[in-house]
Amino acid sequence: MGRTSARAKELLRATKRMNAEAAISALPPMQEAVALPVHQRVVVSADGESTSATVFCRRRGRATDVATCAGCEHVAVVPQAEDSEVRCMEDRGVPHKRDASELAMRTPVAEVMQRNVACLRPGASLSSSANPHLADDAVVVVDQLLRPVDGQTLPETAPLSLAIGLLAQKGCTRAIVVGADGAVVGVVSPAEIVGWLAQQLGYER
Ligand code: SF4
Repeated sequence: MGRTSARAKELLRATKRMNAEAAISALPPMQEAVALPVHQRVVVSADGESTSATVFCRRRGRATDVATCAGCEHVAVVPQAEDSEVRCMEDRGVPHKRDASELAMRTPVAEVMQRNVACLRPGASLSSSANPHLADDAVVVVDQLLRPVDGQTLPETAPLSLAIGLLAQKGCTRAIVVGADGAVVGVVSPAEIVGWLAQQLGYER
């Protein structure tokens, strides 16, 4: 009786072990959370200002409100108001440690552009209370639909390599990044591209 009981326990342990191994092998492969920079856009009109905070979501292929990330099934850490990054379990499809030129072809410009942009509507002027993190070249004059009235533009989904080519060939100091509707979502200049390249080479930004 005693020997049967011991054998039964051993079999039970073996079954549990096999079940655990089967459960582990059925798990989806581990994904790394990626940090997506939050971009602030302030729109200045003659009658006041409004601000939005977005990240570039690769799943959606466009700028997405941080509030949307908070309710998304892929968010790794629910973003708080003061956070400057969203941690997302998105499938980026971007290999680590690859050739920088290949990465530049596979990285959307919206992931590298400046974090802050100000859109000036007709008749508006930038107040002294404007975002202190705003770079000098991050002010864009726009029409009523937030489309830039002049300057070189790139879609937010354009590869960074296209921005590099545009800045080099046209000799301009910035490119304005726009969403699918043509509205300004950001600005990219050589400084961001150099910073991005330095990061790929292992230097801290
Ligand atoms: S958390 Fe969701 S909405 Fe936000 S970037 Fe990731 S996949 Fe997109």
